[in-house]
Amino acid sequence: MQKIKLLCASEIQKIAAGEVIDRPASVVKELLENALDAGACEIEIFIEDSGKKLIKISDNGFGMSPQDAKNSVILHATSKISSVDDLEKISSYGFRGEALATILAVSRLTIVTRESCANLGTKLVYEGLELKSEQNVPCKVGTEIFVQDLFYNVPARKKFLKQDETEFNQILQLFYAIALSHLNVSFKFFRDGRLFLNVPVVQLLKDRIAQLWDFNMSGQMLLLSSGENERGFSISGAISAHQYWRYNKNQIFLFVNGRNVKNMSLVKAVIKGYMNVLPKDKFPAAFIFIEIDPKIIDVNVHPRKEEIKFSSPVVIEQALMKAVTKALEINVIRPAIKMEQLDPVAKYFTYSALQKSLASSTHGTHEPHVLPVQRTILPAISTMVDEAPPELRPENIIGQLMKTYILIDGNNGLMMIDQHAAHERIIYEKLSSKFEKQSGTRLIFPEIIQLKIVELTRLIQHQEILLDLGIEIEQCGPEEIAIKTAPVIVKNISMQELIKSAADFVCENNMLERDVFRKKLTEHMHSQMACKGAIKAGDVLDFSQMRNLIDELKKVDNCFTCPHGRPTLWALGRNEIEKQFKRR
Ligand code: ADP
Ligand code: MG
Repeated sequence: MQKIKLLCASEIQKIAAGEVIDRPASVVKELLENALDAGACEIEIFIEDSGKKLIKISDNGFGMSPQDAKNSVILHATSKISSVDDLEKISSYGFRGEALATILAVSRLTIVTRESCANLGTKLVYEGLELKSEQNVPCKVGTEIFVQDLFYNVPARKKFLKQDETEFNQILQLFYAIALSHLNVSFKFFRDGRLFLNVPVVQLLKDRIAQLWDFNMSGQMLLLSSGENERGFSISGAISAHQYWRYNKNQIFLFVNGRNVKNMSLVKAVIKGYMNVLPKDKFPAAFIFIEIDPKIIDVNVHPRKEEIKFSSPVVIEQALMKAVTKALEINVIRPAIKMEQLDPVAKYFTYSALQKSLASSTHGTHEPHVLPVQRTILPAISTMVDEAPPELRPENIIGQLMKTYILIDGNNGLMMIDQHAAHERIIYEKLSSKFEKQSGTRLIFPEIIQLKIVELTRLIQHQEILLDLGIEIEQCGPEEIAIKTAPVIVKNISMQELIKSAADFVCENNMLERDVFRKKLTEHMHSQMACKGAIKAGDVLDFSQMRNLIDELKKVDNCFTCPHGRPTLWALGRNEIEKQFKRR
């Protein structure tokens, strides 16, 4: 019996669609790339129902003739290459002639387009591979593509689409990448009829970053550059300073010859460049542009061209890691050395902290906690200290300033410690260095708190993670939770606030994969407990409390910043003081 059937063209195309178009974001990507290939400098994006209902992209590019418009939806019809040999010098995004043909197979597609030499444009309406209508219409020069009801005829794929927010975030992530790599193009991005992002043309990458993320990240960006080297590539862009971090890697964007690529080895190289600068499992923002001779890369290794192959990847990875470390060294470590030069007390402080971390790393007790740069500062500091500091000499505490800062007479200068930031760091390190489950103190009267039903349902699902931190909770009403135990390490914290912040975190991050979620929630709780449990600005401290705090801070590896990256200490050297009083 004959079992093998030949599939008809439309079915073949629908099946093949999965490779190029697997979700709304991939449609947006293909259409945006076509608009850019057509030389557009103004692009508008309209997204409805996270792209499931409508994706419309309009551009002011060079448009298409009526015949080209019809050809554009034929599989492997492209204006960008004529043979495989052209791939070596390809500079356009597209070249496979697959996108429109594929989108046509899985949606209701409409194309409106006009070239500048034509008085009227062409409007083509398709449904299920068939051209339903063709009209001459008045329209502006450029192209407008409507993709409606994506996957309406491929229910199996439609079923695999994720929640609206997830699909929308994918679109947004893709849009960020395009906008970051086209500063000379203005974009308007509409979501469900509302202007969501307005992104006019800018000159500088840091200005584009500021347009896309309205928080003040651009102020914390460090420029990165390594001029073209003898191996024929250059690296430029911007990375976040050490005070900024994220819980995931989705603000790390890599571009190779202007094309956004996913390449785990390069992402790892960026992260390695931050070794010991960021807290554990936190990630930087990075916008890295690699320019490389197109002959030594292959862009045709992935159907959506998201991946790229280098002929000698390790060289590029190492250069990238070094460029990141260098940018951080200049901006983060140099100021630290400057501070050392000012004040021998701080020098002494740093010296002992660094010695301690060097010793632990050289004895192999744990992963080196020493930055490569720390290795270089240590000898520098030891030469600055006239003689090695006499055994771990008590600082002369002057007292408290504004009930916030501890003032120390460092014999050769004045040192200030921010009591809250310092204590926060100490608690955070204590909490995060404990791997075993924490026990809690049982409250005599359980504390009852109100949460919204969604918050409560989501939080309760993760109650065992809280239990490991010493916090036992139990649902005791439709919108009520009873807190039965409180963590032992941190005292006098508002359990209400702590649980509410856990509920917020759980609601915002519930899409994370299980193990990652557990880790992130634990870190979040550690940092919340550290912040809420730490001595506050305004708390009066006696001398023994101050001494205790200083001694504890000295034991901590990351003693210079609080878990949020604020400095814990600052010093004013003798020279600076004498200059101010015109003694010098
Ligand atoms: P590719 O981009 O790989 O060539 P596509 O299926 O994306 O394949 O597009 C097919 C062709 O349609 C392109 O080569 C181009 O000539 C034309 N085209 C598509 N979109 C546009 C647009 N926005 N403006 C002008 N021409 C376009
Ligand atoms: Mg294309």
